[in-house]
Amino acid sequence: MKIMSINAGSSSLKFSLFDMETETSIASGLFERIGIEKSNYKIKYQGTKIEQEVPLETHADAVDILLKKLVELNIIASLDEIDAIGHRVAHGGDLYKSSVLITEKVVDDLVNLKDFAPLHNPAHVLGIRAFQQALPNVPMTIVPDTAFHQTMDEVTYMYPVPYEWYSEYKVRKYGAHGTSHRYIAETLAEKLGRNDLRIINCHLGNGGSITAIKDGKCVDTSMGFTPLAGIMMGTRSGDIDPSIIPYVMEKEGKNASEIISDLNKKSGFLGLSCYSSDARDILDGVSKGLEKCYLAQEKFVRTVVNYIASYYVLLGGCDILCFTAGIGENSIPFRMKIVEKLACLGIKLDVDRNNTRDLDMFKISSDDSSVDVYVVATNEELLIARDTLELIS
Ligand code: ADP
Repeated sequence: MKIMSINAGSSSLKFSLFDMETETSIASGLFERIGIEKSNYKIKYQGTKIEQEVPLETHADAVDILLKKLVELNIIASLDEIDAIGHRVAHGGDLYKSSVLITEKVVDDLVNLKDFAPLHNPAHVLGIRAFQQALPNVPMTIVPDTAFHQTMDEVTYMYPVPYEWYSEYKVRKYGAHGTSHRYIAETLAEKLGRNDLRIINCHLGNGGSITAIKDGKCVDTSMGFTPLAGIMMGTRSGDIDPSIIPYVMEKEGKNASEIISDLNKKSGFLGLSCYSSDARDILDGVSKGLEKCYLAQEKFVRTVVNYIASYYVLLGGCDILCFTAGIGENSIPFRMKIVEKLACLGIKLDVDRNNTRDLDMFKISSDDSSVDVYVVATNEELLIARDTLELIS
């Protein structure tokens, strides 16, 4: 059984093809700059990597080349080997509480939800249409990144704003990174043999979010109506006072969408450090004595610790604190700085364990820590494939 996970962006298409008997990725890759000059693709398979510049006017062109290459490179003998395709979807609104098989209604819903994810949802629809055209008989699913957070209660997802903003315009907390948070919750439950865990999961990548999970269900998450909310990120501000927006609009003669773009693309590590959006560069800057990099490092740690502390109270304690994604899985110094600030909760790091590298799951807390702290490598693509397999079975 072979299942493909797809993540179609506005000018890109990522894929991962899984052999579901072993749950291993047999090929993966990325088509980039679709619709713009210098479009190209990269495919990794059996320890080999190919890269090529090729004209890609539409997502359908990318899908055409992808399917041809899978056969040409002997990754599969024929397209009949692709049993199903799962599409990652950024926003399922409050309509989708889990992954579902794609029907025309599902595609219409994604189009109607475009106001919530104007860059992403239309791109997902392009990806779905391209695969429907190329492989009309292959069943397909959507796996919405918001679905896992649909278990949040009303007190959590409502904002204290005029009620009509919710009833008329559906303004509420939706969250994001749900597929990653669910993968971590399911992996911890399976590996530790417990379904009753209180988990605080820190997905710290270029985008970042923290989720409070109880008995496998999301209780609260740091991202909000959009992925701009929550902790400070690579280029995103996270939570700020909304009054800043009209104030800076007037000062700089910008409109609201220009300011939102600054908050999405010029803030976070990049904004505060005036140096880089990348966590490694920030640490490098700190070691060179750059004060703004130090400020950025400390602000990031502070916003992460604040959310962990608030979720510790919300969950009435915590069994597992988990780190995942680029910074969470790899940054020994950032994990140390965060955990050190949690000493008042009895959470303690084991420095040697924290130095572990290249494992999919490892513990970094000391044996006398009040909470077990783990690092778990996330694998959203595999969860998309697993959901798809379950839906077609
Ligand atoms: P996204 O998927 O949100 O684009 P990633 O999960 O790939 O982001 O995370 C990117 C972040 O992870 C960057 O800030 C990068 O510096 C950080 N990162 C990746 N590898 C390492 C590493 N070895 N040490 C420290 N930080 C790392």
